[in-house]
Amino acid sequence: MLMLEKNFPLSSKMRISVDHEKLENFSQNHVKFYLKYSSFVFRALKKPSFQKFLNWMLKKETIEEQAVSAVQVKVLPFRRKNGKGVAGNCNTTRGRIRIYPKTMKFCQIFKQKFGLTTLLAYAGNRARAALIHELLHLKYIADEKTVRKLAKDYFCIFTQKRYTQRAHSLFIYTMIFDAKISGKKAPPDGSNHPSIRSKLDETCLRASGVFK
Ligand SMILES: [Zn+2]
Repeated sequence: MLMLEKNFPLSSKMRISVDHEKLENFSQNHVKFYLKYSSFVFRALKKPSFQKFLNWMLKKETIEEQAVSAVQVKVLPFRRKNGKGVAGNCNTTRGRIRIYPKTMKFCQIFKQKFGLTTLLAYAGNRARAALIHELLHLKYIADEKTVRKLAKDYFCIFTQKRYTQRAHSLFIYTMIFDAKISGKKAPPDGSNHPSIRSKLDETCLRASGVFK
């Protein structure tokens, strides 16, 4: 483990973070769900294959690893005033990144529609895409357009390396980003079906904001 943290310094800055006073407002079921969600996301983000990829990305973008002070995997979801869920945000002055979960309600509907395996793939990849996005903000600060474009490119590089099944990687990509804007071909597994599309549009990372 020590060896791993030396090789992937970002990994040692990652913590699960919970606001205990807020947790008291949630039912036992919700608390159990969100604790499980955050521990799953935490493990997904700490995986050596992803940490190795992030190291490479930071080097390529010449973002100093020291620019990141903390990566907090938040236990509870966060909504902006307009009601939209936030996937992550970055305090570029402090170098503090926060990654937020989807709501329990969303996950229940998603699981009913697509199954647990797809939900887990979605939750893990949503968090990865959010972390990539927020890390890029450390360099491009308020340039949301550049961050979004690069985040898509980098996420694509990571998933294509990782998945042998191209259809699967495209399906995940479509879920996280909007395939219509990127001009990518739709996956051949029907995930471009209008009813699924409209549902997935809600999950799109476009809702991921950053505090300026
Ligand atoms: Zn952003």
